[in-house]
Amino acid sequence: MNVIAIANQKGGVGKTTTAVNLSAALAAKGKRVLLIDMDSQANASSALGIEASSEQSLYPALIGECLLEDLIIPTKRRNLSLVPAHMDLSGVEVELTAEGNHLTCMRDAMVGLRERGDYDYVFLDTPPSLGVLMTASLCACDEVLTPMQCEFLSLDGLSKIIYVIEQIRESGANPDIRHEGVLMTMFNNTNLANQVIAQVRENLPEQLYKTVIPRSVRVAEAPSFGKTIMEHDRYGTASLAYQNAAKEFWSRHSL
Ligand code: ATP
Ligand code: MG
Repeated sequence: MNVIAIANQKGGVGKTTTAVNLSAALAAKGKRVLLIDMDSQANASSALGIEASSEQSLYPALIGECLLEDLIIPTKRRNLSLVPAHMDLSGVEVELTAEGNHLTCMRDAMVGLRERGDYDYVFLDTPPSLGVLMTASLCACDEVLTPMQCEFLSLDGLSKIIYVIEQIRESGANPDIRHEGVLMTMFNNTNLANQVIAQVRENLPEQLYKTVIPRSVRVAEAPSFGKTIMEHDRYGTASLAYQNAAKEFWSRHSL
């Protein structure tokens, strides 16, 4: 079982879109996938057509009062399960900091899941901040995939997330964490976008995904129908791109 945090502290860069569509594309190819929505915005949950329930919260699992496994629900898609987010997750940030074990809480909550081995891949859709839920996700994962917009300022954001990953590794909180990849999103084929990609390629040649996700209004529409891009516009460019990203992810993980 591989646990992949989809992370970038910058907001609105395509984290949730990537978490949902990569999960769905891998599940459609027969991989057993669990998506855990770590963001109180609950965007990943609603993008899959699931409303956050007021009864099921991640919080008791994070403080060891219930099992993370008990929060898993099916998504009506074969091989794809979800732990939905709950709006109380925003308050959890404060409570967890007071608990003192905020770095290890998610890692501890995932012990049973790792032992059972029911999933090939577990994706964590993280919030856009360097708060408790983001750092807890970075401490719980094996690797990080960073979606990034093809914009100049995004390069700064990329350096920051890499720095944070190094800090987490060096602090001993997650000594084996690795930065698996960078997936360029919302590509619009301008000179600027191509220059940004060239710069990432120069600095992180191994990490840069060859697949680039194009900007497409169909991607922005899909969540309002509770559909993945493959369900909403199966043969569109963005759907094909996410399917290619899934193939690339898969081949990078079968080496
Ligand atoms: P947050 O930091 O708030 O969690 P995020 O990084 O998860 O945001 P998304 O929610 O995936 O980002 O995307 C931000 C917005 O951009 C959403 O409205 C989404 O529908 C839209 N979007 C994402 N990818 C694309 C794309 N390839 N083309 C067009 N719109 C996109
Ligand atoms: Mg998001």
